[in-house]
Amino acid sequence: MYYLLIRAAGPFFDCFGIGEAEAIFPDLLPVLSENLGIKREELLKELTKLPGIYVPSHARTSVTRQWLKNLDDYPASSVIITSDTELGDLYLVEVERGCTWGCRFCMVNTAFAPMRLRS
Ligand code: SF4
Repeated sequence: MYYLLIRAAGPFFDCFGIGEAEAIFPDLLPVLSENLGIKREELLKELTKLPGIYVPSHARTSVTRQWLKNLDDYPASSVIITSDTELGDLYLVEVERGCTWGCRFCMVNTAFAPMRLRS
């Protein structure tokens, strides 16, 4: 189902990051900064070379979801506190990512698998 949604969204999005930002950004940000000013089409071709990046206009047969192997490698708490967001006045601490329960209405079980705990 996710595949169909992403395919249908193709005309509206340049690319998708498939997975978790911490695992995708270290490869993505240098490509974006090194290619400032190049033509959009050329940049999209560059993005297709990155793991976890799906470019609808240059569809590949598969994109491997990127995920963070060790949560301890990244900060566990909010870095921006603002009342302009949902839960904005709370200081959030991520103690785990994922879930093993598998409630049918929830996608945490599949989108953030495997479940990982912080030390
Ligand atoms: S609702 Fe989602 S996060 Fe909550 S227990 Fe069920 S699967 Fe886990």
